[in-house]
Amino acid sequence: MFLSLSTFSRIQMPQIQKTLIFATANHNKLVEAAKLIGDTFILQLPADLGYTNDVPETHETIIENAIEKAQFIWDMFGKDCFADDTGLEVDALNGAPGVRSARYAGEPKNPVNNVKRLLHELEGVPYEQRTARFRCVVALLENGQLSTFEGICEGHISLEPCGELGFGYDPVFVPQGMEITMAMLTIEEKNSISHRGKAMDKLVCHLLNHQ
Ligand code: IMP
Repeated sequence: MFLSLSTFSRIQMPQIQKTLIFATANHNKLVEAAKLIGDTFILQLPADLGYTNDVPETHETIIENAIEKAQFIWDMFGKDCFADDTGLEVDALNGAPGVRSARYAGEPKNPVNNVKRLLHELEGVPYEQRTARFRCVVALLENGQLSTFEGICEGHISLEPCGELGFGYDPVFVPQGMEITMAMLTIEEKNSISHRGKAMDKLVCHLLNHQ
């Protein structure tokens, strides 16, 4: 059968899915990212390629840490990769815990103790003054080219933990306009408003526009 050029141009060629390494050992972040971009890209973890230790984060800012994590994996494998670094900024604590969010209660990292310390530091601070935000930076290295994407989710720190879902500070974070904590939202609901959801949306737009 003869196919004209115009017929050819209408034929949908199967898209080969791009593979990205997500530079994290955090299972919760992976689950959220997989829901957000797992249909569009094939996600691999450093562990899938044989690296099972922590990815280093040694800097004083979230963006530098995100870049450091992505660069570490790029240097090791030379494959397209991205990393996410997230901090919780509480206004009444002058932006703390911020870049120290993972280790707010000291070493080793302990999310339950981090929440306890946060609530302790905020004792006596009324709800209206417990404004806070999650700030997430995703750093992408594609063919060695760096791009960064930021997502912010505003809210308040609750007076006590509530909810079983999510991870980290989710049980004490009440997103703006809501009366329940992030730990009471399904992954889909959290992704639709979260810092990570917003940063990953930007990542996907960038990747699809540059293919
Ligand atoms: P990192 O980005 O892995 O360094 O995470 C910093 C800290 O913020 C850790 O204590 C995490 O548990 C916490 N964290 C990161 N993302 C989230 C989130 O989406 N919700 C609640 N806590 C988070």
